Amino acid sequence: MEMTAEMLSGIKASISSAMKGGFYRKRFAGIDPEDIRSRADFEQLPLTEKEDLREAYPLGLQAVGDERVVRIHSSSGTTGKAVIIPYTQKDVDDWAVQFARCYRMAGITDTDRIQITPGYGLWTAGIGFQLGAERLGAMAIPMGPGNTDRQIQMMTDLRATVLCATASYALLLAEEIERRGLRDSICLKKGVIGSERWGEKMRGRISRELGIELYDIYGLTEIYGPGIGISCEHGCGMHLWTDYFYFEIINPDTGRPVPAGETGEIVITTLRKEGAPLIRYRTRDLTREIPAPCPCGSPYPRIGMIAGRSDDMVKVKGVMIYPSRVDELLSAIPGVSSEYRIEIARAGGRDTMTLCFETPLGSPGERGSLEKTVEARFRERIGVTPRAVAAGMGELPRSEKKTARIIDKRE
Ligand SMILES: [Zn+2]
Repeated sequence: MEMTAEMLSGIKASISSAMKGGFYRKRFAGIDPEDIRSRADFEQLPLTEKEDLREAYPLGLQAVGDERVVRIHSSSGTTGKAVIIPYTQKDVDDWAVQFARCYRMAGITDTDRIQITPGYGLWTAGIGFQLGAERLGAMAIPMGPGNTDRQIQMMTDLRATVLCATASYALLLAEEIERRGLRDSICLKKGVIGSERWGEKMRGRISRELGIELYDIYGLTEIYGPGIGISCEHGCGMHLWTDYFYFEIINPDTGRPVPAGETGEIVITTLRKEGAPLIRYRTRDLTREIPAPCPCGSPYPRIGMIAGRSDDMVKVKGVMIYPSRVDELLSAIPGVSSEYRIEIARAGGRDTMTLCFETPLGSPGERGSLEKTVEARFRERIGVTPRAVAAGMGELPRSEKKTARIIDKRE
């Protein structure tokens, strides 16, 4: 995005405050923030990786005295050490302001009743949704996750109008409400959905079955938490609150900015954070900046829906392949079901790509022509031609957790 003079001065101030903490004092040793005079200068600074933050465990990121820290949050450490982010009262207030702005962008007001199903605790989900609701003046119903019976009872008895949930949990509730024939007893109008990538098919089902409008919320624990951006009523990307942070979209391989509008990894620098400012933090989330102004008239810039994680992306014959683009491409071809698997191998010094997909079509002729269609679409849209192989429904391996769809056998 464009770097205004105001942003540049915010960035310089943020670098100075970050350097009061042990982690950035070491990392930026010898750098004088006053020497950063342009976007190009700023882009010379090293990126901050999640691994770096783990090394700062427990409180190496803390950039203010203990007397100013009012709480910590922690990002889920599935592997190794967790990341601890200290917050000052101002950080908590700033987060609430951003989150309330998200609700307003979604047309939610102080007369709404907001049922919050994301978890409460060390991580930032539930408490962020709550802070925002309270700041807005709406009625927060702090349920936390699980206990579907009780969720549905509270939803009907309290006449909740807004559901905050992950996409998976929203779908589960939708199915349960449908199964119990309670569709007419619920008063939900809107859903604020966050924290995982979800496809159009899933979105359509949740929206239809609950009869609600859906909004995608963005955020991550390292940068306040959820609530740093949200989609508007036009549903074409998410607006980001760039008065609180500066973002870049980089090529995850080279670390250089991508041309405007192209997909890459979003990198965030906080402008106002006190407890743990972050400079050029690699989120690993893949998205693109949408350069055109939004029809809603909001001055805040937009990014596309999160297209996956840069850790999930693979490069074949010099072309980057994102799981979300493959989902999108296959879901547009009639006869191809949602399950697929890509295998990448190296033979005779060349990369090869095999794409197995499931189809209900049975005759060899039909399958053969579907394989040709898939190969041609891939060549047109992604720039690589795979060998497509049709399989019957249920023939590809299933997983209870996240299904591995791209298998890279080159290493
Ligand atoms: Zn908009």
